[in-house]
Amino acid sequence: MSDDFLLLNPGPVPITDAVREAMDAPMVSHRSAEFEAVYERAQDGLEYVFEHSTPQEETTSAGGTGLVLNGTATMGMEAAVANLTDAENEVVALVNGKFGRRFKRIAERYARVTPVEVTWGEAFDLETVAEHVTDDTDLVTMVHNETSTGILNPVAEIGEIATEHDARFVVDGVTSIGGDVFRIDDWNVDIAITDSQKALAAPPGISALYVADRAVEHLDGERAPFYADLEWHLRKAADHQTPFTSAVPLFRALAVAVEEIEAEGMDRRIGRHRRQAAAFRAGFAAMGLDDFPTLDDASERSNTVTAIELPESVRENPEEFFDAVAERNVSISGGQAHLDGEIFRVSNMGQLTDEQVLRGVETVGEALAD
Ligand code: PLP
Repeated sequence: MSDDFLLLNPGPVPITDAVREAMDAPMVSHRSAEFEAVYERAQDGLEYVFEHSTPQEETTSAGGTGLVLNGTATMGMEAAVANLTDAENEVVALVNGKFGRRFKRIAERYARVTPVEVTWGEAFDLETVAEHVTDDTDLVTMVHNETSTGILNPVAEIGEIATEHDARFVVDGVTSIGGDVFRIDDWNVDIAITDSQKALAAPPGISALYVADRAVEHLDGERAPFYADLEWHLRKAADHQTPFTSAVPLFRALAVAVEEIEAEGMDRRIGRHRRQAAAFRAGFAAMGLDDFPTLDDASERSNTVTAIELPESVRENPEEFFDAVAERNVSISGGQAHLDGEIFRVSNMGQLTDEQVLRGVETVGEALAD
């Protein structure tokens, strides 16, 4: 892999040398004091990220616990649903892209699910959501930043609806937490989930969860312990331990990655992500390319992932276009599921420089002109 390789996929994202080097240290036991110190650093950094994802001049009262689980965010999504529901429960699952659909499908294994589904790339109609969430609803699931379409969904509004009906509220913040505003308390989020390899800019393999204090009484501690048993994880996390063997090198890398976020400062980091996403959008618009998302007032463009319609000129053979990008040592993503061959996507999550963003735009322009 050449030094000048530029990874613009929406995760895994580039990691710094310090994060990479953190993995290259002698192994220790996950039951050692050394490991507890690593987990404590990761927890402190995550606490900073969660707390400062609400702009500091506004309300913050982070009453909850940050956890790290072995396994990627899909494991975290399943942990949230499995701990908060059983077969008798009613879940309303919001779907306007691949990851909303994944949440719905996971929930279907555990509970009765009513989906609120709109065309991928379109925004939710809040009135329709309000009609589906009732006093019988136990849990609402949604994705904040829908990575498959580049839409930022209205968590605040849906959180209000869930709270009116006393339903638990679980939010996938996988491609927003660490790169964009995420007001966990103001939005009434009970459990938030993110991945290490997205806006936290660590290597893949583990996920981070935030469990609000008020959600703890709803965790089902009666059932036999299982791998993603959040009561067990919370109990151990109080002493910076995990119930099972931890992915030690990945925890070490995450500890450094979240410390780097703290060193940059969340406000600055969010500002940088917004500016760089705007630069991607402006660059592609200047080439005459069209945005993929169709938005209304409630939704916004993502500040971490940009989704653009593939122009007619490359639709016949999109692979040629993606190959032409790859030949220039840049990696971008196509569309997922039925959006394959319809769109391309780039990420500005992590530590991208402005020069790298410009290089991404320039490379797409050159590949289209090939
Ligand atoms: N949720 C969102 C919004 C994502 O973007 C992704 C991955 O891209 C996931 C969930 C699932 O993550 P993983 O494949 O790491 O489990």
